[in-house]
Amino acid sequence: MTAGVFEAGEAVLLIDRKQRRYLIDLAAGREFHTHAGVIAHDDIIGVPEGTRLQSSRNSVFLALRPTLADAVLKMPRGAQVVYPKDTGAILVLADIHPGARVLEAGVGSGALSMSLLRAGAVVYGYERREDFLARARANVERFCGPEALERYRAEIRDVYEGIDETDLDRVVLDLPEPWEVVAGATTALRPGGILVAYTPSIVQAQRLRRALQDSPFDLHDTIEVLHRGWHVEGDAVRPNHRMVAHTGFLTVSRLIAS
Ligand code: SAH
Repeated sequence: MTAGVFEAGEAVLLIDRKQRRYLIDLAAGREFHTHAGVIAHDDIIGVPEGTRLQSSRNSVFLALRPTLADAVLKMPRGAQVVYPKDTGAILVLADIHPGARVLEAGVGSGALSMSLLRAGAVVYGYERREDFLARARANVERFCGPEALERYRAEIRDVYEGIDETDLDRVVLDLPEPWEVVAGATTALRPGGILVAYTPSIVQAQRLRRALQDSPFDLHDTIEVLHRGWHVEGDAVRPNHRMVAHTGFLTVSRLIAS
């Protein structure tokens, strides 16, 4: 969020020699403890990003500000989060832009909310569970700051019962029965508005597609994002042996007339 040296109150990512990552909130007087020794937060406060620090047991830790993806992978979660590989695609499929009015349901741990807010959207969040909503708000405030919190209108609501907002630009869904939201999205979105739904199962995507076909939505598409890392070391250049082969399917559709 900020440039310059680390300040108390910021989140900092510490990375050890084995690439293990630790996310801490800097506070004067506090200490970070691992099996590899202790680092005083006061040794991090005031140094620039990218500094290598030595622990009490002479282990080296690299200090960086967490990217949004780092934060999502390390933050406290209640519900399963949308992973960064899918978040990137969702932002582009839904064409999220500064000022876009976006209905998001369910909010869960707030991982997707954070990316929508980071892209400049005004987010109307509907979430059924109070404990999840509280955690999502805390994550948004911690990693996106108070300015983003002002654009985050998240409430305890069941989106299957309808959407209050009208003239929305986008509806972004991550919940078990997205087809239950098609009727509500039809009146809540403006013509030309875009709906994107993330579903772990293709059967959910199929059921959503059926509901969309029987509605004023058109230009439907369902995709999955395959992200295969490569091992690059000298002449050993090949795909990684392991990959996350499945997270979810993304279905996108556009409201043509209502
Ligand atoms: N995308 C979120 C995770 C969402 S998990 C993230 O990245 O962090 C799915 C969430 O949908 C759960 O929190 C669940 O409580 C919520 N949910 C399920 N049905 C709902 C409904 N009808 N209305 C609102 N929220 C709902």
